[in-house]
Amino acid sequence: MSEPSIFTRILKGEIPAEILLETDNVFAIRDINPQAPLHVLVIPKSEEYRNVTELAAGDPALMADLVAAAQRIADEHANGEYRLIFNNGASVSQSVFHVHAHVLGNIPEGKLIG
Ligand code: 5GP
Repeated sequence: MSEPSIFTRILKGEIPAEILLETDNVFAIRDINPQAPLHVLVIPKSEEYRNVTELAAGDPALMADLVAAAQRIADEHANGEYRLIFNNGASVSQSVFHVHAHVLGNIPEGKLIG
């Protein structure tokens, strides 16, 4: 067995983080290094899928749950609008290989990222 991911350790309470939302199969935390005024990670509880390609192919319903959770975060913390980013691969800055969506919101006008 490989080591649990950092997100699994957060979910288990081994590493502190404020859990903003939790459902049966996903949870959300603020990113420790925010790149936008609202920067939340939405994460499946299962670490079965390493990236969004695997998630979408392997469990479309879980993918839909993840997007619904992103909407709920934006409804509560932004204006109901959000940018959703998945890094897929180390060369595009994926550092945690337990699939997660970056939910960015309240982004100043004209800014692509933060
Ligand atoms: P990736 O680069 O894999 O797409 O995104 C991983 C994200 O996890 C990064 O934006 C990073 O800041 C965030 N992160 C890494 N370790 C922790 C942590 O211990 N707590 C929280 N809240 N976020 C973390």
